[in-house]
Amino acid sequence: MTAYPHLMTPLDLGHVRLPNRVVMGSMHTGLEDKASDIPRLAAYFAERARGGVGLMITGGYAPNLRGWLYPMAGKMTTRREARRHRQITDAVHREGGRIALQILHAGRYAYHPLSVSASRIKAPINPFRPWSLSQRRIRSTIADFARAARLAREAGYDGVEVMGSEGYLLNQFLAPRTNRRTDEWGGSPENRRRLPVEVVRAIREAVGPDFVVVYRLSMVDLVEDGQTWEETVALAQAVEAAGASLINTGIGWHEARVPTIVTSVPRAAFASITGRLKRQAGLAIPVVASNRINMPDVAESILARGDADAVSMARPMLADPEWVAKAAAGRADEINTCIACNQACLDHTFAKKEATCLVNPRAARETLLTLAPTRHTLRIAVVGAGPAGLSAATALAQRGHDVDLFEAEAEIGGQFGLARRIPGKEEFAETIRYYARLIETAGVKLHLSHRATLEELLTGDYRHVVVATGVVPRVPSIPGIEHPMVMTYAECVRGERTLGRRVAVIGAGGIGVDVSEFLTNRTSPALDLRLWQEEWGVEPEVVHRGGLNAPRVEPSPHAVTLLQRKTTSIGRGLGRTTGWVHRAALRAKGVEQVKGVNYERIDDAGLHISFGGKRENPRVVEVDSIVVCAGQESVRDLVADLEAAGVPTHVIGGADVAAELDAKRAIDQGTRLAASL
Ligand code: FAD
Ligand code: NAP
Ligand code: SF4
Repeated sequence: MTAYPHLMTPLDLGHVRLPNRVVMGSMHTGLEDKASDIPRLAAYFAERARGGVGLMITGGYAPNLRGWLYPMAGKMTTRREARRHRQITDAVHREGGRIALQILHAGRYAYHPLSVSASRIKAPINPFRPWSLSQRRIRSTIADFARAARLAREAGYDGVEVMGSEGYLLNQFLAPRTNRRTDEWGGSPENRRRLPVEVVRAIREAVGPDFVVVYRLSMVDLVEDGQTWEETVALAQAVEAAGASLINTGIGWHEARVPTIVTSVPRAAFASITGRLKRQAGLAIPVVASNRINMPDVAESILARGDADAVSMARPMLADPEWVAKAAAGRADEINTCIACNQACLDHTFAKKEATCLVNPRAARETLLTLAPTRHTLRIAVVGAGPAGLSAATALAQRGHDVDLFEAEAEIGGQFGLARRIPGKEEFAETIRYYARLIETAGVKLHLSHRATLEELLTGDYRHVVVATGVVPRVPSIPGIEHPMVMTYAECVRGERTLGRRVAVIGAGGIGVDVSEFLTNRTSPALDLRLWQEEWGVEPEVVHRGGLNAPRVEPSPHAVTLLQRKTTSIGRGLGRTTGWVHRAALRAKGVEQVKGVNYERIDDAGLHISFGGKRENPRVVEVDSIVVCAGQESVRDLVADLEAAGVPTHVIGGADVAAELDAKRAIDQGTRLAASL
């Protein structure tokens, strides 16, 4: 018996049977490009195969040089390259898994001057203007896709995925937005879909019948002049007829101004579109849903509703390689849930850094960061149960140490417990739930509502003390800061103080922006799909080309002014893949953004500010409440005395350094310390 009967039902693809309905979607980790990284990539996939994923898909490999995402990116063009992949496929097969190679031609998203597309139209997110493919080159590109698939087969892969969505080359041929051709590859819908269909047909001919060919299909483009719904349905039917064995879902082009995977997107927000395709296209082959599916109950309900035959999850498999095994064993509460923050995966990829995971720093570093069982159990105290202390305490206990975890508050989580109260950040509660359960299973002795004192740490016979006491909000020295209308972000978010209608937010870092979201949303769009669709202008059913509507934003309950001293644009330090979503949301809610200010004083009239070194243009921001989000300061009161007493003391997280602290650093530092003791 399983709690997830649909999810755990095998899926028969004819020549291959997947043991369950979970597909690990393609993720670029940064380990794809160098031959020397292949052993790490093999270990990464092997760990996920061991965890029971039905079918895994690699990051994208280009079929030719013009299709490279950037120079020296991974490609599958020669037998030599294919041979290297044997390490990956052998490692996966040894663990009983199955793996397909994704073939990705970047088209006009390629970051080099030789990029190509259907027409010579530059993408708004790329400085390089593509060349229009000649008819001869279109034919050779089809042959290159087929060659890549044949080589993937030689390399031991169980299949390939043809990347046909997210605005890459094949998607560019499909949409009038980027295809202005007048030859047989443009114009009518049939001509526009000729390239993807011919690619699938050529691949099927090259690999034979007993090989998985997944086509990643853009269910909705979310850009102007994208495809119509009828074109999408006809494309699905055509790729099936051309030989695809599975249709996977892609949502939105990379240049779309609608978020599709960040944490504020409701769970499974796009699954019903996949369901509509499945019902209307009359396909015999299975269809896979994707985007913001992260827990077994979400996946199960998609399958139970008949919206898809399988679900694809990429980031959740970074977060927890044992996701499937835990779900199958009825241990969903032990899953380390992907909170869709993008901070250590996609933000790293865009910064050309190796991807890993905020909640699982071992992701893609399986061979570098190991939590081996200890040979000598030590008695260790961890002070503070924020992200840093939680990761250290649980990883130490998993290794076999005897751990006391002290937390001054009545619940674990530290500042992360505030993050989960922000509308659109509800997922952050999952990390706290995960650690709460891991504390039980790993045997950490948790002491809540217990502020650890120096005396008990000195007399407790501890071999090591880990100080993870975190941070407290900084109170800036502005005249009048003690005025009753002023509160810290912690008091505001915890609901401890009454807020007036007009609110000034001092400090526009990550927390200032989050607090502004808190102030401007009566209900969380992340928990209300209809509201979210309205606010971002997403059609529940694709009616117009691209599936876009005019956004309708619910008015903010507060008039918010967000201020910072820097003259740079507000929200500049936010994540690459998430910052634009916050900035767009605040603009839509009418938040006034004021930069380059001096804070002069606070009094009954409001917040007095001026601008520039000469303190010019004085202004009173007339408000009823002021929320201070001016950074944090470390809590280190125990450190000096512990060190003076000769106790081996380790300071991690915000207690170590408050500047530029985030949960990624806190969890990583805690885990690394635990691996080293
Ligand atoms: P803390 O979280 O401050 O935890 C320290 C803990 O120690 C506290 O629980 C405290 O009660 C306890 N403690 C202190 N002294 C003692 C003592 N003597 N005895 C016992 N216990 C003690 N980060 C991100 O990465 N991404 C985000 O999107 C994000 N959003 C955020 C949104 C908001 C609104 C806030 C407030 C923070 C956000 N953060 C985010 C920041 C993140 O929460 C912090 O970086 C992280 O919590 C720091 O972890 P820490 O363990 O070092 O410290
Ligand atoms: P932060 O990003 O460092 O921002 C602090 C803000 O306070 C800045 O805008 C700063 O801007 C202002 N400030 C600093 N000292 C001040 C002073 N003395 N008087 C007035 N203003 C002052 O820190 P944070 O917003 O507190 O966030 C803490 C950490 O949590 C961040 O490092 C962030 O990574 C993490 N976080 C991340 C996210 C996310 O979405 N990824 C969200 C929330 C939090 P000026 O100096 O220009 O005024
Ligand atoms: Fe998910 Fe964040 Fe981890 Fe990326 S870094 S896999 S979004 S939890």
